[in-house]
Amino acid sequence: MTRRSYDIVIVGSGAGGGTVAQELSPLCREGVRIAVLEKGPKLRDEEFTGRELEMAQALYEDSGGFLTAEQTMTLAFGCAYGGSTAVYTGTSLLPPQRILERWNVPQLAIADVEQRARKFAEENNVHFLEDSLINENNRLFVEGCRGLNYRVQQFPVNLKGCRGSSLCNLGCPNQAKQGTNRVQLPRAESNGVEVITRCEVLRIGEKTIFARVHAKPAGGKGEPSSWETGDYQIDAQVIVVCAGAVNSPALLMRSGLARKLSRLGHGFTCHPAIIMVAEHNRAITNFVGHPKSFYLDQFAESDRFLLETCMYFPFITAKAMAGFGKEHSRFMQAFARLQMILVLACDEVSAHNRVIIDGAGRTSVHYRFTPEVMRGLVQGSITSAKIFFAAGAVRVHLPVAQFPTIERAESERLDQIAEHPDFKPGKLSISAAHLQGGCAMGSGPRDSVTDAYGRVHGIPWLFVADSSLFPNSLEINPYLTIMALADRVAETIRKEARTLL
Ligand SMILES: Cc1cc2nc3c(=O)[nH]c(=O)nc-3n(C[C@H](O)[C@H](O)[C@H](O)COP(=O)(O)OP(=O)(O)OC[C@H]3O[C@@H](n4cnc5c(N)ncnc54)[C@H](O)[C@@H]3O)c2cc1C
Ligand code: SF4
Repeated sequence: MTRRSYDIVIVGSGAGGGTVAQELSPLCREGVRIAVLEKGPKLRDEEFTGRELEMAQALYEDSGGFLTAEQTMTLAFGCAYGGSTAVYTGTSLLPPQRILERWNVPQLAIADVEQRARKFAEENNVHFLEDSLINENNRLFVEGCRGLNYRVQQFPVNLKGCRGSSLCNLGCPNQAKQGTNRVQLPRAESNGVEVITRCEVLRIGEKTIFARVHAKPAGGKGEPSSWETGDYQIDAQVIVVCAGAVNSPALLMRSGLARKLSRLGHGFTCHPAIIMVAEHNRAITNFVGHPKSFYLDQFAESDRFLLETCMYFPFITAKAMAGFGKEHSRFMQAFARLQMILVLACDEVSAHNRVIIDGAGRTSVHYRFTPEVMRGLVQGSITSAKIFFAAGAVRVHLPVAQFPTIERAESERLDQIAEHPDFKPGKLSISAAHLQGGCAMGSGPRDSVTDAYGRVHGIPWLFVADSSLFPNSLEINPYLTIMALADRVAETIRKEARTLL
């Protein structure tokens, strides 16, 4: 076992970890030693090829196929320099006031979180995409929504020099997305923070980390780690856990903290989502152009769903459709004529849904669809089908119907299907990419894991700064809120540097 020592160690380099690294990096000038330990690899620019299977393997945990314990949903999260920001789409929304009010975390001032989120929006070049870069898949969504008098809205996005390759979720091959891999981590490194990739933290002890550096696999992408392969014990005065909503609670459990912190792993939410497709009778620009430019949130409170434009690659699209055989094949052969919408359910904290570790220390996520989530997905799919038809689609694939192909002439059947949906977990392909909770902020160890500044209750040197801090679902795309919360954690550490370090 090799021993190392730092003043501050950050575990994970995603939206939370990258932000903390940047915000603490000015301390390096005063001689403070800071390291980021990241399990995934750092890819060279030319290694972002946009090829579906090889990029999924290189950038995602379990190649993007991490299954829940019930095997009814896959969870997508990044495992790379930049974490999930390497694969996110870059839609950039500010935290909604109504949600932060509902969270009701003592000392979490709403205006403060919003102001910090705005700071990162500016830093990441968030703006509305110019009209010439909006593709037809997005335009048809707008047309369909307007035809039905829905309040469609444009997403602000964090791009610089987008070339419309539509490959955002496979890592941008044009370096246009302004994730932590492009903005915050390089800045932190140039200020003196060390980022050690392929370094998996196994366990945290008293001001100590036990980690393993993995060798680059033969034929794999990315640079080798800057450290030799092997086991390490790393001493640190302050440890900031930013391993994401699945891995942060799992790591703290593996470190024996579940006895002290009974809420660890609880409160997991994730916006379960289904992909809807519809066929037009002419080719449309769908897989060229930025894929996600518009959304509809007017039904979030009443019917518990959100709709976003999307465009997925052939493998994901094929997997997302219910059924098989001729009907399935007909939609896939019409790929260049497909319009797509993503339906996201607004789930809420529920007792069953949580992260656990099993007897062998393996991470597992238990998730059951509540009746509200099922209703949200059904209502969201029916609303999407109406939007597709209003935009001129000739047939819609409706996975919540017993017979999923709905021809235009049968569109009046939609309301009947809504009354008696054929929703069986396992029949539909459901996935989630907005993973939240597990180390929630709150007032004390009975209701939460950390305080409003990410400090773990009862452990002054241990902080959490990522999506696991959310006490309940955010009901919108979360990365700017995560960065805002991580910024608060970094500021607390900076202010207390004299006593902590
Ligand atoms: C496909 C996709 C599209 C998305 N699109 C959007 C979007 O458009 N807008 C938006 O707001 N949000 C989007 N999101 C969500 C957003 O990317 C995440 O919510 C956010 O990145 C989470 O930040 P985080 O810091 O909690 O975790 P992550 O960004 O996931 O980072 C966690 C990091 O910790 C590392 N790690 C884990 N365990 C260990 C360990 N034991 N040791 C060392 N390192 C470890 C991981 O490898 C990872 O790099 C998307 C997510 C996905 C997957
Ligand atoms: S659409 Fe733009 S941001 Fe997305 S991968 Fe292509 S160039 Fe990058």
